[in-house]
Amino acid sequence: MNNTPRCIRQLNVDFNSEFALRLARPDDSLCAEVSCPCGNDIVCVLGYYVNSDAANGKQIFVGPLGMKCSTCSLESEIMDPEVHGYNGEIGSNTTMRGSGPRRTWHCPTCKNEWVRIAVVFSYQVEVDDVMSKRPEDYFDVFQLFAECYRCNGVSTVSLFDCT
Ligand SMILES: [Zn+2]
Ligand SMILES: [Zn+2]
Repeated sequence: MNNTPRCIRQLNVDFNSEFALRLARPDDSLCAEVSCPCGNDIVCVLGYYVNSDAANGKQIFVGPLGMKCSTCSLESEIMDPEVHGYNGEIGSNTTMRGSGPRRTWHCPTCKNEWVRIAVVFSYQVEVDDVMSKRPEDYFDVFQLFAECYRCNGVSTVSLFDCT
């Protein structure tokens, strides 16, 4: 996969950052650190805490996911399962999704909300001729990771199955 998925193209994207390389796996996935278009990499993540039946009632963090810059306060969008990923692209999203005012994700260890973030897109689904023009957008799993600015803990913020 060579191109940047369209959902993060408006962000500052770094495929070769130390954080991105630390998360990279040998499988067919694309991993990048993302930061504010202004260049600042300390952000808080915006989305929704919901209780998931699939996760035995445990709280998960769902999209539409955005972020807010600690320096310029710009709010940017990261990923919306309704429009991005395999099912989003074909208009049949089944991933849980929130609505209304978004909340800030906080570190499960120290409760701090300022983090550096990285995204991982995985590709295991066959694409047809139309999809093969931009295969980077037809990811079947999306993951968002955060490294806490205070305690340096790395957490999975969100994991969506997009098929
Ligand atoms: Zn900024
Ligand atoms: Zn922390």
